[in-house]
Amino acid sequence: MNSCDKCGYKIRGDEGNDFGIIYSLDVAPAYCRNCGNAYPWTEEALKAAKELADEIDGLTSDEKELLTQLCLATSRLTCLI
Ligand SMILES: [Zn+2]
Repeated sequence: MNSCDKCGYKIRGDEGNDFGIIYSLDVAPAYCRNCGNAYPWTEEALKAAKELADEIDGLTSDEKELLTQLCLATSRLTCLI
């Protein structure tokens, strides 16, 4: 996948390198810069984070949202290692 499946906008980070269409998550954006569509890796990370948040009892919806965003940021950071 090297372009947005919704609008076809080219995803940056996959052009002009020696690895062809291979790009890493640390340079891949979370959302399409053209139409705002969440890319598959973003949706997967969000889904996993939401499932984790739902497993924790006693969180308000605001806290769950915060935890989800935190997990998403963390999962993207680990891709840099
Ligand atoms: Zn798009």
